[in-house]
Amino acid sequence: MTTVLTPASPLTAADRCDRCGAQAYLRVVLASGGELLFCAHHGRKFEPELKKIAVEIQDESGRLGGTSATANDDER
Ligand SMILES: [Zn+2]
Repeated sequence: MTTVLTPASPLTAADRCDRCGAQAYLRVVLASGGELLFCAHHGRKFEPELKKIAVEIQDESGRLGGTSATANDDER
């Protein structure tokens, strides 16, 4: 199945997590047409819930780690 997504504008420093006010790295587009913004922490935390209600999840948390795209999250 081919899904054409509308190009979403990149998240900026002005986009803030709806939960904690940190810089947002995830934009969740809801089936209702609404939008939610989450920081990387809350995006990960709510991901299972979001996947049930989202039509699109724009994940820019990869930018957090700089150049490397490897799974090198801070889990300490
Ligand atoms: Zn947050």
